[in-house]
Amino acid sequence: MLPSLASGDQAGRESSAETHHQRGWESLSGTLPRFHNRARRDSLNPRPFDMTMRSTAAEASPSISHVVPGSPYPAGASVLFDRDGVVNFQRTGRYVHSWPDFEFLPRALDAFRALAHAGVSTYVATNQGGVGRGHLTAGALADVHDRMAEAIRDAGGRLDAIAHCPHAPDDGCRCRKPRPGMLFGLASRFGIDLSASFFIGDNVTDLEAGVAAGCRTILVGTGEGVRSAGRLGINEPFTGFTGLEPPPIGGLVGVAGDILDAVHAAIARRAAG
Ligand SMILES: [Mg+2]
Ligand SMILES: [Zn+2]
Repeated sequence: MLPSLASGDQAGRESSAETHHQRGWESLSGTLPRFHNRARRDSLNPRPFDMTMRSTAAEASPSISHVVPGSPYPAGASVLFDRDGVVNFQRTGRYVHSWPDFEFLPRALDAFRALAHAGVSTYVATNQGGVGRGHLTAGALADVHDRMAEAIRDAGGRLDAIAHCPHAPDDGCRCRKPRPGMLFGLASRFGIDLSASFFIGDNVTDLEAGVAAGCRTILVGTGEGVRSAGRLGINEPFTGFTGLEPPPIGGLVGVAGDILDAVHAAIARRAAG
């Protein structure tokens, strides 16, 4: 949150997208216009943000880890993913507690390889409410992500960083999807151009977060994807990539069979501008 306020354009979008979620800001609604103005002015003349504006610990920024140092690629237009049900199998009612629970979906490593080959910066943004609810320790999650990142690199793939929200659903944080805090956090740290980027997910909440962040989104048929499509009234088959026109929700550009189909579509559309 703090870094994003230093970049005026991003801060403006975050403010407008999240205002209704932020209890701390609601109580300051009378001063909101002035706050917006100050955020813009700060982008020209940076100064420390007033910490008292942050009302609860749960509104803290998402946790960002596994940053690849010295990224050889510019950020800009990037591809961001949900994790469970997109990158790895999601088992109903079960968290990934440790590495033996983690299993890459078919073609997931191919997708990260395709992104490396195309020179596209790549991020994961995952809700891990099991941490906040005490089902999963932060250390165990870090170990899973260490090994996931290592496996992607070993396969010749590209993963620039992982953002996770450790908060429980009723913590009221700003990073748990469908809120866009993780995407804004990654964008402000790495200079991602969200409006030129894709967010790929299997849940309606992923699509909502992506849209709120200004990304184009793609729904995959793995994980909860088929059920999500049903909720949105989407009847297209989940094979290859099918563009949706008009989109059933703003920003949802299409449905893809899986992560690799989605990545191919994102890379092609990126090349097409
Ligand atoms: Mg998911
Ligand atoms: Zn959170």
